[in-house]
Amino acid sequence: MQTTILLLPILVLVLLPMSSTGLSLFPARRLIPYIPPTFISPSSLPPTSRIPLCNLPTPVHSVPSPLSTKFPTKNKFHLKRDDSTGGIELGGNKLRKLEFLLAQAALESADTLVTIGGIQSNHCRATACAGRLCGFDTEVILRCPDPSPDKFQGPSGTEGNLMYLRSSGSKIHTVTKQEYATHGSSKLLSLVSSSLKSLGKSPYTIPVGGSNALGTWGYISAASEFRKQFEEDDTLKNIKHIVYTTGSGGTAAGLTYGLIKSFEEKGRNKGYAISSDEEINFVKSYAEKSGVFLDTVYTGKAMYAFCKGVEEGGVVLGEGEEVLFWHTGGALGGYAEASRISSDFQQVKRMDL
Ligand SMILES: *Cc1c(COP(=O)(O)O)cnc(C)c1O
Repeated sequence: MQTTILLLPILVLVLLPMSSTGLSLFPARRLIPYIPPTFISPSSLPPTSRIPLCNLPTPVHSVPSPLSTKFPTKNKFHLKRDDSTGGIELGGNKLRKLEFLLAQAALESADTLVTIGGIQSNHCRATACAGRLCGFDTEVILRCPDPSPDKFQGPSGTEGNLMYLRSSGSKIHTVTKQEYATHGSSKLLSLVSSSLKSLGKSPYTIPVGGSNALGTWGYISAASEFRKQFEEDDTLKNIKHIVYTTGSGGTAAGLTYGLIKSFEEKGRNKGYAISSDEEINFVKSYAEKSGVFLDTVYTGKAMYAFCKGVEEGGVVLGEGEEVLFWHTGGALGGYAEASRISSDFQQVKRMDL
């Protein structure tokens, strides 16, 4: 009884301000002014607004060295945790770009976001979920090994990113790799966009990875965010190398533009979304060592390539020089490699009672 009496006034207090301010159904669609970093000149015409979706600044964590124990190291490693820009359905590097892209879609009074990517696209998943949060419908084109809609009925239809992409209510159009190559992503996007227009909708098209001039501002800002952390946190002062991975190019373009000293190592050994046994083993053993899961498509490959470079001598780390690795997220893509990753997991024990 006592709880009922106590709860009622609280409910009234919470509900009244919401209805009286007339907040829209999608309060996350909130445009705020964008203040570009001081090194940006007004002539570069920075965007004027963004929708604050990310938890910023993302932390920098000091982590165990990913170099093999054979390799004597006095070089510390740090991770820039852009895997945690948002929750599981939003997180990763794409959310920084979406802050600008979704603001532009809102300014243009669009109602539907249209984008494209691979079947385990982190970008499509983040766009669909952030889009829904801000009150947009989304339609995505997915490049699939098997484009048959039946394939999406089975367990693989809810694997990793697909679970969250589909939960958001996004409409999916499938194409084969061949069709994707033949038509190109712009053509495919404009086909979906035109058909939406003919239905009276207002689509806003976002290119692969959100990597256009506007999306890149997310990483120009990220560079300046890190510079501030670097200046203010003494434990970061020996960072001399910054390592990040690249896919559609927006992250690299933004960071390279914004960072004074950067280091880039390409990790595309076997090609997009194909991992060698060495790369999978590296992701597994680093998770076991550090509790950090690097993804199998981008960050695991890049960190592996970087470590291999150091161990083989192609990459030289001077005495005491520290490394910042930019963790861009993507753990959900690892579900597609679950059987390879889990092959030698610790045995589970039945509890002895
Ligand atoms: C998309 C993505 C990248 C590559 O970023 P681009 O801006 O497309 O170059 C790197 N890591 C992860 C986890 C990604 O999802």
